[in-house]
Amino acid sequence: MKVIEMIAEMKEFVTKVKRQGKTIGFVPTMGFLHEGHLTLMRKAAEKTDFVVASIFVNPLQFGAGEDFEEYPRDLERDLRLAESAGVNLMFTPGVTEMYPSGYGTTVEVGSLTDKLCGRSRPGHFRGVTTVVTKLFNIVEPDIAFFGQKDAQQAAILNKMAADLNMNLEIKVVPIVRETDGLAMSSRNKYLSPEERKAALVLSQGLELARNFVAAGARNTADLISEITDFINREPRARIDYVEVLSFPGFSETENMHGQVIIALAVFIGGTRLIDNMVLEV
Ligand code: AMP
Repeated sequence: MKVIEMIAEMKEFVTKVKRQGKTIGFVPTMGFLHEGHLTLMRKAAEKTDFVVASIFVNPLQFGAGEDFEEYPRDLERDLRLAESAGVNLMFTPGVTEMYPSGYGTTVEVGSLTDKLCGRSRPGHFRGVTTVVTKLFNIVEPDIAFFGQKDAQQAAILNKMAADLNMNLEIKVVPIVRETDGLAMSSRNKYLSPEERKAALVLSQGLELARNFVAAGARNTADLISEITDFINREPRARIDYVEVLSFPGFSETENMHGQVIIALAVFIGGTRLIDNMVLEV
């Protein structure tokens, strides 16, 4: 697996790959790889001829007081794992390579960004859409792979690619979970053993919702209050949001019908975790 830090070298390499007529699959990450990331990489290897992944902890998508500095990093381990998952080229730019002094352009999607994580983390999605646009321009992928774990992010990136006529396809890969249900996340590393147990309220809250819907629940407010009560019984949990929205439109509905997404953001101790489930009602 080749590792490149500089944008100019990436562009040269990508030009060569394209000249060989190969399709490029791309998996952007912030590193500290887990089975969720590796699943995206394997999917990319299955669907395209040449797999590029990136590791870049993007300062632009972290708010003041968030965990940019503490975000877990382990490049050597990541490189080993990525190679074993079929990545051909890993792009690992530094912050000043991506945002040199005087950098002044951002990309902002005007819909879908004002709710859920967009409301809790102002500017977060502007950081995501800006860095992903830059990465798309550097890597020129035919297909880019994102996780349903970040369902709102995937929807926003889809909208961005469509609105800006980007010449690529976006594929969304299902959430990969630990055997006990916890959605895999690099941030799970922050959890103490007690918090790790408490974190199960997210996936269990979603399972509870699934059961309520299967039993005939249709009122959105009632379902939200059932999930909220369940999560609030865990003393280590503090809810950021519990929402039930239409899917893929992410609009509010009084009564559930068709596809809905149940989306959660919950602090477990100091760690903010997200999870979601899409249900056909
Ligand atoms: P991150 O490194 O957290 O920015 O994630 C990089 C990519 O991996 C994003 O597209 C995420 O949605 C995806 N991802 C993260 N966790 C999971 C998971 N548990 N299952 C599937 N995809 C994931």
